[in-house]
Amino acid sequence: MSTTFVKKVGTTCLLGLRNVSARGQVLSVAARPYSQARQPVSSVRPETSSAATMMDIGTRRIFNEDHDIFRRSVRRFYQEEVIPHHKEWEKEGQVSREVWEKAAEQGMLGVSTPAEHGGIGADLFSRVVTWEEQMYSNCSGPGFTLHSDVVMPYISNYGSEEQIKRFIPEMHAGKCIGAIAMTEPGAGSDLQGVKSYAKRDGSDWILNGNKVFISNGWMADVVVVVAVTDREAKSPAHGISLFLVESGAKGFQKARKLEKIGLKAQDTVEMFFEDVRLPADALLGNANQGFYHMMNELPQERLVIGAQAIAGCEFMFEETRSYVTHRKAFGKTIAHLQTVQHKLAELKTEICVGRAFVDNCLLLHAEKRLDTATASMAKYWASDLQNKVATECLQLHGGWGYMWEYPIAKAFVDARVQSIYGGANEIMKELIGRSIVSRK
Ligand SMILES: Cc1cc2nc3c(=O)[nH]c(=O)nc-3n(C[C@H](O)[C@H](O)[C@H](O)COP(=O)(O)OP(=O)(O)OC[C@H]3O[C@@H](n4cnc5c(N)ncnc54)[C@H](O)[C@@H]3O)c2cc1C
Repeated sequence: MSTTFVKKVGTTCLLGLRNVSARGQVLSVAARPYSQARQPVSSVRPETSSAATMMDIGTRRIFNEDHDIFRRSVRRFYQEEVIPHHKEWEKEGQVSREVWEKAAEQGMLGVSTPAEHGGIGADLFSRVVTWEEQMYSNCSGPGFTLHSDVVMPYISNYGSEEQIKRFIPEMHAGKCIGAIAMTEPGAGSDLQGVKSYAKRDGSDWILNGNKVFISNGWMADVVVVVAVTDREAKSPAHGISLFLVESGAKGFQKARKLEKIGLKAQDTVEMFFEDVRLPADALLGNANQGFYHMMNELPQERLVIGAQAIAGCEFMFEETRSYVTHRKAFGKTIAHLQTVQHKLAELKTEICVGRAFVDNCLLLHAEKRLDTATASMAKYWASDLQNKVATECLQLHGGWGYMWEYPIAKAFVDARVQSIYGGANEIMKELIGRSIVSRK
């Protein structure tokens, strides 16, 4: 029997194949660095519409065999290290610290962080594997994606050499958890309305304010905080900066974990900053350029939500396919009913259409050609579809779909937030609309 593995050795991530005898004895091991293991895109890989199941490994032309090996290892990680603990984490409202470090050992955090910053510099599609596998596991607790693909890029892209050296290797190792705090009780969609204020005091800054709905917030060791730094700026967008605030800073308080209808194992909190003294080197990027730094980073965050939304649809579809082929009514399985088959046909078609668009967005992003409006389309359309698929798939489960013990119930409540955070879908339509009418 052969098994695949992905293992971090120093800063190198190895992809490998282990041949094991029936008695579990390791017969041979072959490994090569991930960064050298790319293979040409194969044209014979089936697309989602013709694959046996939507979560099959070895499908879709955007991936290659190395991604498949990585996917197997990430899938196994979720099966062994996440799924068995998730119920307990849902009760606690957070995951364990241990799972972060274990994920790091598997090369699952900061997958694309360049080697010179302590990462493995893998490509975008390897990151996509981690986003999708989390959705396929139906375990929304670990905030790995936010940490790796939202927070870490802020530090890699705008951080000073010292900030990068200080945070990125630790974040990569899962020993320093990241969060980002933009939203305030009075400012969510309208980010230019933030009131948190950092005032200069010599070379230091004094931060005051209040943030809400901050994912990874309870466990976070470092938080990218958005604050006003120039109240006299010609527009609010010209007077906003970003700061790296560390847990334990005097005056920085994390309030209770918020009780949500879904994402039960995600630690989402409110934060208070009262006269928090920040040294000059806590400023991330340029002073008063924070809003523009966010505008550069938000398309990727929206793409992540779109990509995870489609993967969520695929998971729910497969759960439902399995359910209807076992559930009996009127002497046959409900899969025999034509109305059920038509519903599945509609859902499959819409998911495959969404998959094609999102995969194309991923290709564009890999080529650094994904614009804000296109990323917004992916986020809004895919998350709306995810909610539609959640509703329809739960319906096909009947009363059992309403029971927490059935995975579809969790997928249903977890889907709901996708059209709200990362910019509400109405804001996505604003961005798309503006790009339409501003074209000459
Ligand atoms: C579980 C969860 C996790 C989150 N994680 C984070 C995080 O880690 N960091 C962070 O900073 N934030 C986070 N957020 C906050 C999230 O990004 C905001 O909730 C979101 O941007 C919407 O802001 P709001 O809640 O203030 O809604 P509001 O801005 O009050 O908007 C309410 C509704 O009004 C409508 N609306 C608003 N503006 C317009 C408009 N211009 N045109 C048309 N309709 C409009 C929309 O329907 C919108 O949903 C999280 C939220 C949740 C629920």
